[in-house]
Amino acid sequence: MASKSRWADTEEDAAYEAKIRREKEEKKRLKAEKARKAEEAQRAQAEAEAAKLRAAQEQQQNQDDRPPAKRRKLTPEGEGQESGGAKEENNNNNNAKLLRFEAGTWGKSRSVENYDKLNDIEEGAYGWVARAKEIKTGKVVALKRLKIDPNDAAGLPETGLREIQILKDCSHRNIVELREVVVGDDTSRIENVFLVLEFLEHDLMSVLGDMPEPFLASEVKTLLLQLAGGVAYLHDHWILHRDLKTSNLLLNNRGQLKIADFGMARYVGDPPPPKLTQLVVTLWYRAPELLLGTKTYGAAVDMWSVGCIFGELLTREPLLQGKTEADELTKIFELCGIPSDDSWPGFRRLPNARHLRLPKASAAHAGSVVRARFPLLTTAGCDLLSGLLSLDPDRRPTAREMLQHEYFRQDPKPKHEAMFPTFPSKAGQERRRRRSTPNAPGRGQKAAELGAVDFSGIFAAREKEERGGGFALRMV
Ligand code: ADP
Repeated sequence: MASKSRWADTEEDAAYEAKIRREKEEKKRLKAEKARKAEEAQRAQAEAEAAKLRAAQEQQQNQDDRPPAKRRKLTPEGEGQESGGAKEENNNNNNAKLLRFEAGTWGKSRSVENYDKLNDIEEGAYGWVARAKEIKTGKVVALKRLKIDPNDAAGLPETGLREIQILKDCSHRNIVELREVVVGDDTSRIENVFLVLEFLEHDLMSVLGDMPEPFLASEVKTLLLQLAGGVAYLHDHWILHRDLKTSNLLLNNRGQLKIADFGMARYVGDPPPPKLTQLVVTLWYRAPELLLGTKTYGAAVDMWSVGCIFGELLTREPLLQGKTEADELTKIFELCGIPSDDSWPGFRRLPNARHLRLPKASAAHAGSVVRARFPLLTTAGCDLLSGLLSLDPDRRPTAREMLQHEYFRQDPKPKHEAMFPTFPSKAGQERRRRRSTPNAPGRGQKAAELGAVDFSGIFAAREKEERGGGFALRMV
């Protein structure tokens, strides 16, 4: 219960204050209710649009008296060879018969046949992305196939629908642009729906994996400012990305960074909905409150991921490469310190915190070692990185606060995007070699029970590590 204000001298004052408080709470409640309703409506709309899309395409097929057109071979003769003018002309004739996509009506989506595949960018268990060329205009795009959701009885690609809905609503220079949604011949199959995205030559993970030298400080600043700009836009619009990582950050040859992959993203209100899935964000970028099983979380989960990305930009290695959820927490505590009632008030109330056995708060080296881990980072840089990697989500800076941070004002200044180095584009030419990083958890997947984890030996292990030994977590 809120304590009596020291300004409330009389009963009347106290009653007045209580009334204001009630009004404020009511206002907050109404705001949250409104955001929740907006999200429900959006979800219903996305599902209705998917159904409309199927119906409209079936209708188109029925109306068409020609036998269904043979599907264009998506791989052109000779990998990477671009199609010639004849093909283009041919397609222009076909265009008259194709339904045109108009914003907001997936039912009128154009056919994927308007594009020629140039090469695969990403092909794996989790999805398919290819570089393609619009036949009519010659414009190069990225085609991303909608994934069916194996956990959904109706096969509805909920992640894909969310991705479409959210990308459709976004317009920002640091967020990948969704140009249109196109469909394949067999429209009864949802995996025949493709997102046509602006094409960017690189993703940051591949660039980092191939760089002989790490980014310069001025380059790290440019990338971080763009990332924070995109994230601030999302958070301003009540969107949580929930899977920020270097492979989801695209980079073009003009030094522009854009956030991609909105499959885990969702709208939230303030306060956030009381029950959000904890199983979000790829393990190495997952915030400690998620690992400890929180059901209410907010924009700070994305800011934790931004902190992990900051560290990765400096070293070219993912910062916290846990093998399991318990191992990830261990690595977090080793770097950021052991949580205490001071550093993270209330953490003991989180569901999985009950299973933790932590060393006494007075133990040596209980604090963060971010400074020691990044000896070349300036004090301001260290302050920002440590802030982003605060165990307590309330202590992490918001994306807007990050944009104003001293680190970006100090020398070396952020490099102008136009002066950014360019790299050979794998996406532009060939299939990528992937460094194996874990993926975001699948929808419907169950959170692994963290089980009883004993962190009490963490410092002994740290010391051992300093002497060259390994670190192993004891499970009790
Ligand atoms: P998934 O949801 O299957 O993980 P993503 O959207 O993350 O799909 O894309 C997977 C990979 O495909 C990215 O890491 C990136 O390498 C590549 N990619 C995605 N979108 C684009 C794009 N617009 N331009 C170039 N490459 C892209």
